Amino acid sequence: MKIANVIVDVPTKQTDRPFDYIIPKEWENVIQPGMRIVVPFGPRKIQGFVTDIKAGSEVKQLREMIEPMDLEPVLNKELLHLGEWLTETTLCFKIFAYQAMLPAALKAKYEKMVRLAPGMKAECLPQKIKPYFTNHKSLDWEEALKDGLVSVLQQEAAKGKLEVVYVVKERVRKKQVKFVGPLFSAAELAVEKEKIQANAEKQKQVLDYFIDHPNPMELRKLLQETNASAATVKALVAKKLLFEEEMEVYRNPFEHRTFEHTYPLPLTNAQAAAIKPIHASIESQKHEVFLLYGVTGSGKTEIYLQSIQKVIEKGQEAIVLVPEISLTPQMVNRFKGRFGDLVAVLHSGLSAGEKYDEWRKIQRKEVKVVVGARSAIFAPFENIGIIIIDEEHETSYKQEDMPRYHARDVAIERAKTYQCPVVLGSATPSLESFARAQKKVYHLLTLSSRMNERPLPAVDIIDMREELRAGNRSMFSRKLFDMLKDRIEKGQQSVLFLNKRGHSSFVMCRDCGYVVNCPNCDISLTYHRAGSRMKCHYCGYESHIPKVCPECSSEYIRYFGTGTQKVEEELGKILPEARVIRMDVDTTGRKGSHERLLKEFQEGKADILLGTQMIAKGLDFPNITLVGVLSADTMLHLPDFRSSEKTFQLLTQVSGRAGRHQLPGEVVIQTYTPEHYSIELAGTQNYDLFYQREMMIRKLHHYPPFYYLALITLTHEHLMTVVAETEKIVHYVRSQVSNQAVILGPAASPIPRINNRYRYQCLIKYKREPNLTRILKKILDQYQKETKNGLLVSIDINPFILM
Ligand code: ADP
Ligand code: ZN
Ligand code: ZN
Repeated sequence: MKIANVIVDVPTKQTDRPFDYIIPKEWENVIQPGMRIVVPFGPRKIQGFVTDIKAGSEVKQLREMIEPMDLEPVLNKELLHLGEWLTETTLCFKIFAYQAMLPAALKAKYEKMVRLAPGMKAECLPQKIKPYFTNHKSLDWEEALKDGLVSVLQQEAAKGKLEVVYVVKERVRKKQVKFVGPLFSAAELAVEKEKIQANAEKQKQVLDYFIDHPNPMELRKLLQETNASAATVKALVAKKLLFEEEMEVYRNPFEHRTFEHTYPLPLTNAQAAAIKPIHASIESQKHEVFLLYGVTGSGKTEIYLQSIQKVIEKGQEAIVLVPEISLTPQMVNRFKGRFGDLVAVLHSGLSAGEKYDEWRKIQRKEVKVVVGARSAIFAPFENIGIIIIDEEHETSYKQEDMPRYHARDVAIERAKTYQCPVVLGSATPSLESFARAQKKVYHLLTLSSRMNERPLPAVDIIDMREELRAGNRSMFSRKLFDMLKDRIEKGQQSVLFLNKRGHSSFVMCRDCGYVVNCPNCDISLTYHRAGSRMKCHYCGYESHIPKVCPECSSEYIRYFGTGTQKVEEELGKILPEARVIRMDVDTTGRKGSHERLLKEFQEGKADILLGTQMIAKGLDFPNITLVGVLSADTMLHLPDFRSSEKTFQLLTQVSGRAGRHQLPGEVVIQTYTPEHYSIELAGTQNYDLFYQREMMIRKLHHYPPFYYLALITLTHEHLMTVVAETEKIVHYVRSQVSNQAVILGPAASPIPRINNRYRYQCLIKYKREPNLTRILKKILDQYQKETKNGLLVSIDINPFILM
């Protein structure tokens, strides 16, 4: 008897272990580790992952698995193993680890159905529901709800005539298309054609077509080409002259695009020096982590491309991670241009079906390179030769939900397995990575100048307090206004960048300062112009903007803060001649709109591109000669020890957008705190000095990279409960760790209440605590058993969001 070890799709503490199921004889040769199968679980049928197959089991009353969902494993051995590692290091449920590795399309979807109980006939049911079961064996639950049948169904179910079942469904089907092809050679077809009755003109035409084009083709295209009808083709199939077949095709998101093929450029001396150790690591199959540190435009991407080239020549595969917002068509083109159809692309702009198709190409080894956002790190390659992470400092590489992994850690773990290099690239490396490079844990490779020695743009830092003093109340400094005007006159393009993070528009009373907060969460509501409403971004609460202040009854209550819409309106007033393209979540919501707007800008259809974070990267247009940052310091005041680092990175990145080509570029940064080192040093693009300053501060305050962090957050409806329980946890942790560790808390989270649940946290700063994972796991175990009383505990190891 064969037994399958199965991780079931029930994310709870009690079910976070393999369950044993008997593999029925008929499936014995089919079921393999890494496949998804359907298993009975209590009264339900659910999905599970087979992690192992054994000869026997200690469990007495075993149940049989029901059916396989895959014909081949969706997770290979290495990924199954990686799942265990993920579970251990991020303290997540195993099921979440495995699901995170697969495209959303492969996540189980359950459909609730009602059907006749065994041995029952539709005749025995009441009139009202009989018709639903006469011809069909089962009724969809959604349909039952819609038709108002639930109570009748329930009564019949209680009598044992009906039963409720859950059916596991695939979310996305493989796309199948009908192909038609000849069953004979051209010469034979010509003979057969003569035998067809004289008046069957269309049939003859179709045969003529295949005499000229002997390859199978899509039925749809054939009908277009020959003007024949489907019936004509059917007739020929019936005569056994043609065959018809359903074949799987891929939804191709790039179908309408062609890629200009590019060839490796002769490397500069600096590039050659940087690529040499990477090539050596690929050749000798020796794992090493490289930090490729070079300003934007210094030729990092060319190094990636030529490293991948080497990997492909060796018959191996490459994973390239790029932050979601830099996964622009321009970026993708650079890889497709060099490696053509060997490249699969995975990003959130694709539909679930398209993503699934790209994933299948990887799984079938039809591609050698995958370019994608964070989750592409789980690409199911089996012979990885290099993993590249561009813009390695980006915080979007950390996933905030279970499994709370960092793609960089996963990359290094996989690269160790395959003994291949990891290349981390950045103009502003994260402090963690740069510190590791300084300590020679990573191998530092530096590209110190831009290609063609093009100088970095000149940066002007404007003190907005001075502007106010000089009587300028506009959001544009005089300097920025003059320069925008100048560019429009010269026919050059400008980019205006609004740092939206932590800067949503809120509604405030100008008389008394009252800010409208969400009644469920301790956070201000965000203003939305559409419908003049305010929304809570945490719980979804919505309301109208009050006409008068609820505090002082003043009528001067209105929204504050600068949204992109507001900037656009203001631009319309002061520079009516400017053609503006606005890019933010509102204008890029629809699929493909991001791309379209960029294309319009590239084609010179606008003078100014105005946008948020999403325009900070990847833009590389020759005609951009001015970059303006409207509010550099909005991010500095967030309760986050990385806020200086993030500000520096963002400003440096945005500045890099100007003057990348023939025309020299200028940058204007507007700020209320020009003396802050992260702004000052971004002005001179001095990463090294910034690194030193910031390291001192991190050391002083016991933050990474000097200390590791672990954040425990508790939430509960009652303030007293959450405080008391956090207190208990703080005590427990304190009693278990060494006195080197710093334990902060209990403290209210920076957002102290979300959705009527109070939030408290305990922050652990530590250097070396070999037992910490065990301690944290114990806490989770304890509280996950106690979820009944409504207390929720979450633990984030190496958190990036401390709110
Ligand atoms: P980064 O990735 O560091 O921003 P890129 O690789 O995009 O830099 O290089 C910047 C520009 O220089 C690109 O237009 C690229 O085509 C060009 N470039 C890169 N390497 C070379 C080279 N060896 N010779 C000529 N041009 C190069
Ligand atoms: Zn008021
Ligand atoms: Zn809310």
